[in-house]
Amino acid sequence: MSVTSVCPRCRTGDEYLNVGRCHWGVCRPCGTRWPIGANVFSSWRDETEDDWWRNAATLERLEEVEPHEPPLGGPETCRSRPPPRSGARATRSRSDPATPHR
Ligand SMILES: [Zn+2]
Repeated sequence: MSVTSVCPRCRTGDEYLNVGRCHWGVCRPCGTRWPIGANVFSSWRDETEDDWWRNAATLERLEEVEPHEPPLGGPETCRSRPPPRSGARATRSRSDPATPHR
């Protein structure tokens, strides 16, 4: 595990959550989160928008702290919210016809 996934406060732990291609380290005992960088791990490719929104909700409850090292790719690469959902709630294919809203 990379050092960037270690909690800046207690120096332990190696948990992170993905929001889109951005990775956030999280330490639940400390209640902290810190930006790791974008596209460092490939795991985000296996996740869905629903995963990212759930992760974003978790991150919102944690305190953002300064990481050991600047996030890879620069601080601006890390967002704690996924991009806006593209249209309908369902994450299935685009072959669905436009869903009428009323
Ligand atoms: Zn910690």
